[in-house]
Amino acid sequence: MEQDVPPSDGRKTVFVVGLGMVGIAFIEKLLNLDTMGRYRIVTCGEEVHFAYNRVALTDYFQHRNVEKLYLNEPEWYAQQDPSRFVCHTGEAVVSIDVKAHTVTTDKDRMIHYDYCVLATGSEATLPDYVDRNVKGVFVYRNISDLNNMLEYSNRDSVRGTPATVIGGGLLGLEAAKALYDLETAGDVTIIHRQTFPLSRQLDAAGGEIVLRRIEAIGVRVIGNVSPRALVTRMEDGSQVLEGLELSDGSTAPCSIAVFSIGIKPREELAKAAGIRCEGEVGRGTGIIVDDFLKTSAEDVFAIGECASWKGKTYGLIAPGIEMADILSFNLAQTQTEVGGFSERRMNDPDLSTKLKLVGVDVASFGDYFADQRRQKTEVSKASIEGGKLTPATSEPLSHNQRDPNKPKVWETTAAKKPRDASSPKKRHGHASANEGPVETLTYRDPFGGVYKKYIFSADGKYILGGMMVGDTSDYVKLLALVKKKAEMKKAGHELSNNLCPHFAMSRAELFNVIKIKKLKTLTEIMEAIGVKKDSVGCEVCKPVIGSILASLWNEHVMNPAHHAPRSNSNQDTNDRFMANIQRNGTFSVIPRIAAGEITPDKLIVLGQVAHKYGLYTKITGGQRIDLFGAQKADLPSIWKELVDAGFESGHAYGTSLYMLCVCLTF
Ligand SMILES: Cc1cc2nc3c(=O)[nH]c(=O)nc-3n(C[C@H](O)[C@H](O)[C@H](O)COP(=O)(O)OP(=O)(O)OC[C@H]3O[C@@H](n4cnc5c(N)ncnc54)[C@H](O)[C@@H]3O)c2cc1C
Repeated sequence: MEQDVPPSDGRKTVFVVGLGMVGIAFIEKLLNLDTMGRYRIVTCGEEVHFAYNRVALTDYFQHRNVEKLYLNEPEWYAQQDPSRFVCHTGEAVVSIDVKAHTVTTDKDRMIHYDYCVLATGSEATLPDYVDRNVKGVFVYRNISDLNNMLEYSNRDSVRGTPATVIGGGLLGLEAAKALYDLETAGDVTIIHRQTFPLSRQLDAAGGEIVLRRIEAIGVRVIGNVSPRALVTRMEDGSQVLEGLELSDGSTAPCSIAVFSIGIKPREELAKAAGIRCEGEVGRGTGIIVDDFLKTSAEDVFAIGECASWKGKTYGLIAPGIEMADILSFNLAQTQTEVGGFSERRMNDPDLSTKLKLVGVDVASFGDYFADQRRQKTEVSKASIEGGKLTPATSEPLSHNQRDPNKPKVWETTAAKKPRDASSPKKRHGHASANEGPVETLTYRDPFGGVYKKYIFSADGKYILGGMMVGDTSDYVKLLALVKKKAEMKKAGHELSNNLCPHFAMSRAELFNVIKIKKLKTLTEIMEAIGVKKDSVGCEVCKPVIGSILASLWNEHVMNPAHHAPRSNSNQDTNDRFMANIQRNGTFSVIPRIAAGEITPDKLIVLGQVAHKYGLYTKITGGQRIDLFGAQKADLPSIWKELVDAGFESGHAYGTSLYMLCVCLTF
């Protein structure tokens, strides 16, 4: 047996099992963070390729060049200093001796480790009735699966014959698209246990839109059914696939069947080494890790799809990358030249996804099933259509209820407290930002193939999550909002959208309350909804209130209710003098010229006033004429002359809505 030579310079060996997406992410991060040169990394990847982008596996059908998927060029590996990083591809680890701190590979190599990181990923699940040796049965996980599929579909006896994908999830749809694009494959069918595809990412209404788009490109979808047996024939001493027997008694003929019904963590190595896995505690599969990604064996960690944290495994890349981040940080940064940082812990990862599947943009973000965990109430259902409120429902559509003629519509639905244990479970265990009641806003455009659902806290303050089909342009923006709240919460901060200390509500809420209660002055507003009834407000709320009052009621600023110099009047110096104070202590006067329309007589008066009081004039962006340089003492007589000529003051002096720019064409 070949023995790996441990480093003589005192570096510790970190051995990484598996050169997949998470394994390489961890290696790169540790190489970058290990500024003190404390580690030598050794890895063995069972696949013959360098780490590649599995997420883009389907592209391989187009270019058939694995190097185009490589996450690092082969030169990158060649350039690595062997005292820091050694990589063996096409070599599987077959055993770990956790006591001796050694691993053994299928090339009869033994490597001593100080730390061992399991990044063995997952494998495709196959139902019990499937014999993998039957010709025509495939899974969709790695390059060799794709090569086998390509080779088989090109055989004369298979060319142009039907192909079936079992599973309408993310991977199933990827596989279906790949087969559909394959010139050697015949008709493609997806067989799915649920009514609609992507049931882990989308609700029924979203899944329905995806279903229509898939069917529109010519892929058939059979829902609410699952295969129960393979139909085979013997050929040259081998079993060859001819079709699938379905649970409804029918048969789906096919010579290629791609099983995409799920994945299971590759834990066999860990199990054999006596490392605790979920099966032992009756919780399914996965190598159990704690908040620091440690397994039950000393100095052995697990990251990526093989790891089970708090009983949850993740079939997405983002949580794996987060694990790689945490572990590399903890190994390298808890002790540095400039001092140590505390260890990072695993937190609920973000499971938001944005994908293009079968040509359809699909995204789900935040707690995208928050509404399904709350009991829906029949009250408060309303549909906003053409600005009018009309009764509506946003119950999921059944297959038979699908109505392509249903117009596009935004709907709001209220959902109450979490219901009992029978309510839908948290998908992937994603924690809701708020376990209280929620409101959903849904938009359906069956003709345009667009569906959006946004879920808010019942008070409308926070967006908790949502899903989008057909148009994902708002994904990044909305995800950032969801994440911001989550980050603040994680950091122990309460996120408040209150306007200022004087109003415990947002600007939008303040606007609505003022409108509904028909409040017309700052005093009335403070008394009705202010935190302190006799408060005079501040530089934040006063201009906002000025703007809201101007927008809603447009009362004349000379109305005594606004203008009287009281301590709690909404008006400041500018409003009182009806002129804007300038840096040099003079004022600018801006009479109202609605929409820029002005008579010649009024123009003459403006000129005369400007001339008389020595004012500089300028046409403003708001289509008015600004008179600059007025002395405070002249303001009453300036305004008298202007008012006598028919001018009035607009809302030009507060921080409020005071002008609309209008372009008139005659
Ligand atoms: C077709 C497809 C599309 C996907 N699309 C998306 C997507 O759009 N978004 C998303 O978030 N995720 C997607 N995923 C999932 C994503 O690819 C995985 O989450 C990610 O690859 C997990 O990385 P990992 O390193 O944990 O596992 P893997 O990438 O599977 O790597 C594990 C590696 O370890 C090797 N290995 C296992 N055991 C041993 C051993 N004993 N010795 C040596 N090597 C070993 C395996 O051969 C493998 O190469 C997709 C997956 C597939 C298959």
